[in-house]
Parts: sequence; C-alpha cells; structure tokens
Amino acid sequence: MVVKKICCVGAGYVGGPTCSVIALKCPEIQVTVVDLSKSRIAQWNSDKLPIYEPGLDEIVKQCRGKNLFFSTDIETAILEADLIFISVNTPTKTIGNGKGRAPDLKYVEGAARMIADIAQSDKIVVEKSTVPVRAAESILKILSANQKPGVSYQILSNPEFLAEGTAINDLINADRVLIGGEESPKGKTAIEELCGIYEHWIPREKIFTTNTWSSELSKLAANAMLAQRISSINSLSAVCEATGADVSEVATAVGLDSRIGSKFLQASIGGSCFQKDILNLVYICECLNLPEVAAYWQQVVDMNEYQKSRFTAKVIQSLFNTVSGKTVTILGFAFKKNTGDTRETPAIHVAKTLLDEGATLKIYDPKVEEDQIYYDLTHPSVCESPEMVKKAVSVYQDAYLACENSHAIVLCTEWDEFKTLDYHKIYHVMMKPAYMFDGRKILDHQALIDIGFHVQTIGKTLQRPLLTRLCGVNSCMH
Ligand code: ADP
Repeated sequence: MVVKKICCVGAGYVGGPTCSVIALKCPEIQVTVVDLSKSRIAQWNSDKLPIYEPGLDEIVKQCRGKNLFFSTDIETAILEADLIFISVNTPTKTIGNGKGRAPDLKYVEGAARMIADIAQSDKIVVEKSTVPVRAAESILKILSANQKPGVSYQILSNPEFLAEGTAINDLINADRVLIGGEESPKGKTAIEELCGIYEHWIPREKIFTTNTWSSELSKLAANAMLAQRISSINSLSAVCEATGADVSEVATAVGLDSRIGSKFLQASIGGSCFQKDILNLVYICECLNLPEVAAYWQQVVDMNEYQKSRFTAKVIQSLFNTVSGKTVTILGFAFKKNTGDTRETPAIHVAKTLLDEGATLKIYDPKVEEDQIYYDLTHPSVCESPEMVKKAVSVYQDAYLACENSHAIVLCTEWDEFKTLDYHKIYHVMMKPAYMFDGRKILDHQALIDIGFHVQTIGKTLQRPLLTRLCGVNSCMH
C-alpha cells in the first residue's frame, strides 16, 4: 500500500498544524482533517484559524482546497483514507478512578470506535495524541473486536513533539520523528509507510523507529524530563531570592556545562502543558506498583505548584498583604508566548488567587479571546460564582488601557510586545506606589525602577527605587 489519502481525527493544536505541514510537504497526498466540532472546522475553513501559530496561516492558505481539507464529514474521510491519525484531546480525568491524574481516554476510544464502525478496507491507524503507555493496545482491542471481514489494522505510535508557539518550525525542522509499531512483518511495513511520508522532508537518520511501548513512553519521558529541568531551576530561584544570587546568572553558569546545556533553564512563574503528561506518568507508575518512581515525578509537579503559589503570595504580600478593593492588571493570559492556548496557564492561578482575595482584575493578552478568559475563570474548578468573576474581571484589547488606575501589574506571559511597551506612559496612569511583578523575567528591571516602579521578579532580589531606599535609611536612623 502506498499512502495516498490521510485522514486526521481531531483538528486541534496537534492535528491542525501537523497535517498542514504534511500537506505542504507531500503535495501528492490528500490530507483531510476532521472534527466533531462544526464551529472548529468552520474556523479552519475561514480567514481566522482557530489556533494561532506563527507561519500556520500561510501554509493553510497555500494548501487548503488543493490537498488539504477541513471537514465534518468524518465518514467519507475515514472510508477513503489509507492512514488515519488520531489527534484527539486527552484531558486529565475529572471524575472517577485516577481523577485529577489519569488521562481521560474517552476521546481516543471514541475515535477508535468510529474508525471500526466506518472502515471497509485496511487502515494504518496512527496514535498521535499523548497517551499512556500501552494505549495502542487498547485501540487495537477496540478495532479488532469490531473488525469487519477482510479489514485489517496496523496501529502505530507516532507522538508529536512540537511545542506550541513554534509548532511549524518544530514540524519542519524536527529534531527527530519517532515511530513505534509491532515488530511483525506487517508492523514493519506500516512503519515504513509512515516513514515514507516524513521522508518527504525529514532526513532518514532523524526518523527513529522503535517498538510501540518505547515510543509511547518516550513522549511522556521527554516531557517529564523537560519539566524536571524547569522545576529544578525554579526550585533554585527560591534559593536565589533568599541568598542574593541571581537565577539567570546561575542558569547561564550551569548551562555552559555541555553535559547540561543551556536550553530550558529559564526560571519563571511556573505552569506548563507538561503537567498533564507528568501526572499521567505518575499515575502509570502507581498502577505498576512503582511508588518510589511515582513519588519522584510527583515532586516535579509539586515544585511547579509551589512556584505558582510562591509568586502569587509575593504579589499579595507586597501590596501590604491585601488586594481587596485594589485593581491588578494581568499582562498575558496564554500559557506562553506566540500561542492563544490557555490550558494550564499560570495566569489562571494568579487570577484565581487575586479574585479570592477580593481584587478587581484587568486582563490583556494579544492572542487570547475574551470569551476564553471568561470561560477559564468561570470554570467550576476555578470559581464558585461566575457572576462574581464577570463583575470583577474586565478584558482589554489594549495594554495601556488595561493598566489605567491599577495598583499593580502582574506579567504572566513572555509576549515580545511587553518588552517594548512605554512604561513611562503606563507608570503615569497607574495608582501609586505602582508595582510591577515580572513573572517571566523579560523586562528591563533597572529601567522600571528608574521610572519609579516597585519591581519584583523571580529568582532575584531587586533594589527598591533610590527615594524609597533613602526613606528606608532615614527611618532606620530615626
Ligand atoms: P490537542 O492539543 O491534543 O491537539 P485539542 O483539544 O486542541 O487537543 O484538539 C482535539 C480535537 O479533537 C478537538 O477539536 C475535538 O473536538 C476533537 N475530537 C475529539 N474526539 C473526536 C472524535 N471522535 N472525532 C472527531 N474529532 C474529535
């Protein structure tokens, strides 16, 4: 079989960009991305795509209607496809066994059942969503239990390593492509088919093939180890603040060791999409009766939580231990720059804590829609009274307006545009003393202090403005 038609089930942050790049690089293959959500598909077919990724608009414009299609006709796409990607969501379970930790595989299972119902010919089914180890086995069980005569399936694991915000670059210049499959001749043939697609643009030596379980575990392991680096540097940021060391200097010094390397050593406010995957790993370890391993990785998550609460506590403490009746501006709501994704964003934690303490919030993010912010902040896991949230939170389309009459700014996302805002102008429209909490360590702190801001950041204790320092000295002398 030579793959001529691909169907991707799930038009989200993984399925959309991945299939757009496949369509771009494989003009002779027809790629159809399907989703249950009519509105999401309508957005993919419009000028305003449902997700923001640098470079994505151009690729979709170039390929859409030629060899890239977005459709709700799941049946036709599955019937016609030689190869099907499953790129559905795998959120953390909110009820039942494993609640709060285990991934909810109902969407993966739903996709597998749909394929089994519809397919009339042989299919290669590729698990792209991040799943627990041995999920491929569950997919195969569902498919083979509902198999029609003459139809056979091969299941591959092909985890996606793209990072949101740099998805297109990560897909085009992937460090590696990982494909896991059965070690049988049929399994090997299926692996070769998928290799053939990636070989349109990825050199063969960067395509790594393994058994299915290694491939599934590698995705969780990679995310866990990346998160572990962040938790490690974040833990050291607390030591820096207590000792006068500067975490950026420490990170640079440590990263110069070629065994450690400099990437992914940026301390910050915490929070990332890795949390879900590490919790998934922790849960698997517990189920496998490996409590020591589970406890080890759980600590990585705990450190991330500690970092978020430590930072928010610092905000409240600096504002004379009360934010009740005060206005706080949150700059940035996405979980990182260059994406509109808010899943597990630290901004939710910051906003929730400040709201619980009685603050009024003004929020600005260049890419997150107002509806999404209200959706996140009124979610039952965040608030008890959606009405109260709607009253206390205003969303702005302009950073300057969002800062007017605020007592403090909390910078939660490292958007480049925040580095070049006119902070003189902002200082003048704020309440005094004006506070700046840089949760991402991206601003010029000395310049802000010179303007008059009280500045706090992560992993470094900053000096107060000269006047306040002098006042402090004077009050000591009295
Ligand atoms: P990810 O970040 O993993 O890509 P998203 O939540 O962004 O996850 O996207 C997953 C998409 O999968 C959603 O748009 C959802 O509607 C879609 N989806 C879930 N189950 C099915 C299914 N059985 N058939 C088609 N689409 C599905």
